[in-house]
Amino acid sequence: MNVKCILCEKIESIDDDTLIAKRLKNRPIHTYMCDECHDRITKKALDRLAARSAETQPEDE
Ligand SMILES: [Zn+2]
Repeated sequence: MNVKCILCEKIESIDDDTLIAKRLKNRPIHTYMCDECHDRITKKALDRLAARSAETQPEDE
């Protein structure tokens, strides 16, 4: 099946037998994110987390 990334709107073809395909079929509203965007989001989240912990923790390690 074809899925569209919610962030970059890139169309990707995924295997119907994969877990994500089944999930999308059951709940089409459950939108798809391509690996590229997923990585970017994850990295951003991790960066934010790191920035926050740097603020709250003393830097004498
Ligand atoms: Zn994307």
